[in-house]
Amino acid sequence: MTSKAWLSLGANIGDPPAQLAEALRRIDAEEHVHITKRSSVIITKAWGKTDQPDFANMAIEVETSLKPLELLDVLQAIELAMGRVRKEVWGPRLIDIDILAYDQIEMISPRLTLPHPYAHEREFVLNPLAEISPSVNQWLTRRVHSAN
Ligand code: ATP
Ligand code: CA
Ligand code: CA
Repeated sequence: MTSKAWLSLGANIGDPPAQLAEALRRIDAEEHVHITKRSSVIITKAWGKTDQPDFANMAIEVETSLKPLELLDVLQAIELAMGRVRKEVWGPRLIDIDILAYDQIEMISPRLTLPHPYAHEREFVLNPLAEISPSVNQWLTRRVHSAN
């Protein structure tokens, strides 16, 4: 059985658009993950920690037979293989791959929160996501409003 997941990719050191392309190549090369949609690449100001270079951001939709934590393992392995050094959250990075949503699953666990806890307040996430999936974009935006 396959599921759908929506991923956000970002990079702001090295050659960010090239690293996004490399991450897509590696994700699609995974046996159990297929990219089904990809947004355009947008250039955005850093969020959270603003004293760092601009980001290149995009979103993709994938089909996968992996469970959520297995997908996270695969994505984190790709980040590591591409030289990501996890020093600080929100700091400069060669590549960041976040799981925005996985089907309609809602979960909070030490390694994985779904949907992604900050997605709904980040335009650099929501705008590319809207290009490829208006319905998931609306779900992420609305579920927060209805929780408040
Ligand atoms: P943010 O999560 O606010 O975008 P970040 O991407 O800079 O910050 P990282 O250092 O890449 O943070 O990740 C910190 C941890 O977040 C990861 O080790 C991972 O286990 C956890 N995490 C929790 N939920 C998710 C998710 N939906 N997608 C990716 N990582 C997640
Ligand atoms: Ca992130
Ligand atoms: Ca991350």
